[in-house]
Formats: sequence, structure tokens, C-alpha cells
Amino acid sequence: DGKLLEVKDLRVSFFTPAGEVKAVGGISYDLNYGEVMGIVGESGSGKSVEAYSIIGLLQSPGKVIGGSISFEGQDVLAKSKEEMTDFRGREVAMIFQNPMTCLNPVYTVGNQLVEALRAHDKSISAEDAKKRAMEMMELVGINNVARRMRQYPHEFSGGMRQRVMIAMGLICHPKLLIADEPTTALDVTIQAQILELMKELQKKTHMGIVFITHNLGVVAEICDKVSVMYAGKIVEQGPVNDIFYTPGHPYTVGLLRSMPRVDADSYERLIPIEGTPVDMLNPPEGCPFAPRCEHAMKVCLQKMPPYVELGDGHRSACWLRVQEQVNAKKEAGTND
Ligand code: SF4
Ligand code: MG
Repeated sequence: DGKLLEVKDLRVSFFTPAGEVKAVGGISYDLNYGEVMGIVGESGSGKSVEAYSIIGLLQSPGKVIGGSISFEGQDVLAKSKEEMTDFRGREVAMIFQNPMTCLNPVYTVGNQLVEALRAHDKSISAEDAKKRAMEMMELVGINNVARRMRQYPHEFSGGMRQRVMIAMGLICHPKLLIADEPTTALDVTIQAQILELMKELQKKTHMGIVFITHNLGVVAEICDKVSVMYAGKIVEQGPVNDIFYTPGHPYTVGLLRSMPRVDADSYERLIPIEGTPVDMLNPPEGCPFAPRCEHAMKVCLQKMPPYVELGDGHRSACWLRVQEQVNAKKEAGTND
């Protein structure tokens, strides 16, 4: 399949009057064609900032201060403003929690779909563009397409507007879709329908998806692999099953515990993660999760834990795992 996106040691800071906020503190991941990666974390964990950096929509005072983003081998951070505009929409598209951020209330939906297409494909005829727009609307499950094309965004329900935004995102056949909490504002039934739709489209188009969410339930539905972010760092990363069945970081365990369970024979109580998120202006010296971690040791307060490989593509940054590894090596040593 091959690599579509490669993020290496990406660092993003916000230079505020109160000081530097290291919103993204050196994260790395790969995404292959046809793969869906979830980026999970609380609000303020840096998950959206990271995504905005990929598409060049990071706003001042935010700045990429280090690392690299490679898309099909192209250096994304080296692109000019014009190249970036072209890159967005044609190679990569983004959908948001609130469709109104990218739909214009004063134009019909059909008009906006046609314009989105023509902005990136100057040679397409008006007639073909309209045909493609209608096909796209059908593909995302909108009925009465001819009539719907002539309607304005406010004439659509929340779920239908989200479908329109997905159609807008996908009309130029991007290779990568970045979805930032696209179902969060919707009620549970509509949420499930939109996720189902995204899964279907993903299979049809073989695009890669970076799916940003605070909801592990959503991750289980749609993702192949997961990066768990805390305070601007990826604290755990791995195939979705490893994350759910053998989590290697106390923060991931906390997220799993606080996840609403839908299966009938599980009556586990919801346990919220105690404590408040990190003050990003004055982050702790060592492990950022230490102030909230029930396992915190002295070393946790002093030094950021390194990644420990827990399985194929599964790694976690936690001193507990480092100790286990050291102990396992010692044991192996005494057996010799
Ligand atoms: Fe908890 Fe220490 Fe692991 Fe951080 S490194 S998650 S404080 S045990
Ligand atoms: Mg966000």
C-alpha cells in the first residue's frame, strides 16, 4: 500500500504574551493509503493544532517550530501559500465539527459544490461540474438531489449538512481526509449514520483518514490505529485492538474507563479521569500525566519517559513500561 503521510517530530508553539505554549511537543506517526488513524485526547491536547499544521491552516500566533510533514514524499512545510491552497482540496480535505464553518449561508449547496470542484479543476465544464456535484450528493446519501442542489445550507438538518460538508471535502477525490470531531455535535443515531457513511466512502476511495476525536467509542468504530495525545505529546500509539485490549499507558486506561459502554452485559461505572489538564504555559518537568496519575513515581516527576515498544507498531511513553522492560531483561539475564 505504501506511505501516504509521514509526520516526524512535529513541534508547534503558540507565542502568546504570557509565554510560549508548546501545543505540539514533538509527535511522529505514519499513515498508509487506505488507513484510518484516530487522534484521541481531551480538548487542548494539541490534536487539532497538529491537524491544522498539516493543511497549512495554523493561525497566528501558532507556528511550526520543528520537525517535518511529508505527503507522498513532498515536503508539506516547504510549500508556498499558493501551493498550499492547491494542496488543500485537491490532495487533502478537511471536515469539521460545525459544517457552517465551511458552508456559505448565502449560496445554494449545489453552487458551493460546483465552485469547490472548479476551484481545483479549472478545465472542467459547468455541465460536468454540476453532474459531479449531483453524483457526490447521491454518494453521501442525500435524496432528491436536483431539488437539494438549489437549497441553502439552512434548509438542511444538522446531519444532512454534515453530509454536504463531506461531499464538499471529497468532491476533488483527495488522498487524505482530516476529520476534526465531525460527529461530535450530532445526536447518537445521526452520529452512527455519519460514521457508517465515512467508513463506506473510505472503502470505496481508499483514501487515508486522520480522525480527530475525544471519543474512544468513535475510534473503535472507524479506526485502524490510534495515537493518544496528552499535553501535546503522543503518549501511546498502536493498532486499535492493542489500544483497547492491552493499553500501555495509564492515561489510555483512564480514557477507556471513562468511555460509555454500550454492550448490555457490561455495567461498569463510568470513571472520569481525576484532576485537571496540564497548564500548558507551565508544563511539568517529567511525564505530563504525572499530576493525575495514580501510579506516579519519583522518576515520573523528573524525566519524560521514553517510548517503549510493546508490540508491532504499539508503543507507549510511561516509566512503568520502562521498568517492566528492565526487569524482564534482568530475569532473562539470571536465566543464562
Ligand atoms: Fe504515570 Fe509515571 Fe507512567 Fe506518567 S510515566 S503515566 S506518571 S506511571
Ligand atoms: Mg479541537
